[in-house]
Amino acid sequence: MDFWDLVICGAGPVGCTIAERASREMKWRVLLVDKRNHIGGNCHDSYHDSGVLIHNYGPHYFRTNNKTIFDYLSKFTEWIPGNYFVKSYTRGELFDFPINIKTLEQFYNCDLTVKDAENFVEKLRVCISNPANSEEFVINKVGRELYEAFYLGYTLKQWEIHPKDLDASVCGRIPVRFNKDCRYSDYKYQVSPKHGFTKMFQNMINNPLISVMLNTDYKEIKSSISPRIATVYTGAVDEYFDYKLGKLPWRSLDFDYQEFQQPYKQPCVQINYPNDFDYTRTVEIKHVTGQKSHNTIVAYEYSKSCGDPYYPVPEQKNLSLYQRYEDLIASEQSEKNIFFVGRLATYRYYNTDQVIEEALKTFDKISKLQETQN
Ligand SMILES: Cc1cc2nc3c(=O)[nH]c(=O)nc-3n(C[C@H](O)[C@H](O)[C@H](O)COP(=O)(O)OP(=O)(O)OC[C@H]3O[C@@H](n4cnc5c(N)ncnc54)[C@H](O)[C@@H]3O)c2cc1C
Repeated sequence: MDFWDLVICGAGPVGCTIAERASREMKWRVLLVDKRNHIGGNCHDSYHDSGVLIHNYGPHYFRTNNKTIFDYLSKFTEWIPGNYFVKSYTRGELFDFPINIKTLEQFYNCDLTVKDAENFVEKLRVCISNPANSEEFVINKVGRELYEAFYLGYTLKQWEIHPKDLDASVCGRIPVRFNKDCRYSDYKYQVSPKHGFTKMFQNMINNPLISVMLNTDYKEIKSSISPRIATVYTGAVDEYFDYKLGKLPWRSLDFDYQEFQQPYKQPCVQINYPNDFDYTRTVEIKHVTGQKSHNTIVAYEYSKSCGDPYYPVPEQKNLSLYQRYEDLIASEQSEKNIFFVGRLATYRYYNTDQVIEEALKTFDKISKLQETQN
């Protein structure tokens, strides 16, 4: 098993990106290991028994402002436009979300120009000079009534933590728009891989220098492999160190996929349910994939505290615990050339474009090791 230049734990976006660069650029032999039975990490998509393409780990809306990342991925996929529109169901009606002028007009039953909307929200908001948490952030931006209708219940369901106890940045990520733009996000590139994420990642790692080992836990094989150059670890950091400083908490999700015998079930890809039902949102990814079929699948998402690790829990005590792991990470890297990258390994909320950027930076560092070894 001394055959590899580089061993990568995790065939998600980070693992596939570094494998691609190392094999193509450096001509290294790469072993890519994943404990799941597929590549693509949480971006994985596959065909449901009904024939409809679904996103297996929640909807993935690819968006970025980074042209370098967009150009890099464009080598492995064609794109279709990202049809990313979200509505929120509250008080028995569907509203555009994030909040824009149309949301305000519908909610308050009035017509608003841009100037009117700005003045109107100015009267609604509760001025807080330095919002210390997510609740203060939102009421400072839009006032208590909109906060209670759109944010409070959703945050409680999603995190089981009151917005008062969550960092301001959690709800701060969601824009409020003084125009009628009803797209979910503001990024320059909002696209989706034409043939799906899994196909895009397959194209990346389609190289005879890369061997993929699925259904394999890195823990089980790590003592029997010693790569010539380095190891990239994209699994959970606390698990790697046998939880010796404590366990980092994650939020997880259950997905209940339901089939409907009609081309579309809902008006857009995602509907949030801040105040009704146990599920947080329903997702009909066909609105994004553009697949033509007489039937459709809607995923009902339920948030929970145990299960597959999906979202790091943004509380100070968890970030402090992660910082203590950083010392251990630094020694692994300096003594053994083991690099910790990605969402699980750095306990950070990253979108796909951001982790790919991190992966490319890590590859640059690793490629320099070759020079020092020669
Ligand atoms: C519900 C949800 C929705 C999201 N929506 C979006 C979105 O709309 N847009 C967007 O840009 N991003 C989105 N993301 C983020 C995106 O999924 C991540 O940024 C990306 O998948 C992170 O890539 P990664 O390689 O770091 O980790 P992952 O995708 O988590 O891949 C890590 C891989 O490592 C494997 N692994 C872990 N431990 C081991 C081990 N011990 N041995 C072997 N293998 C192991 C895992 O099985 C996994 O396949 C979403 C994430 C979630 C959870």
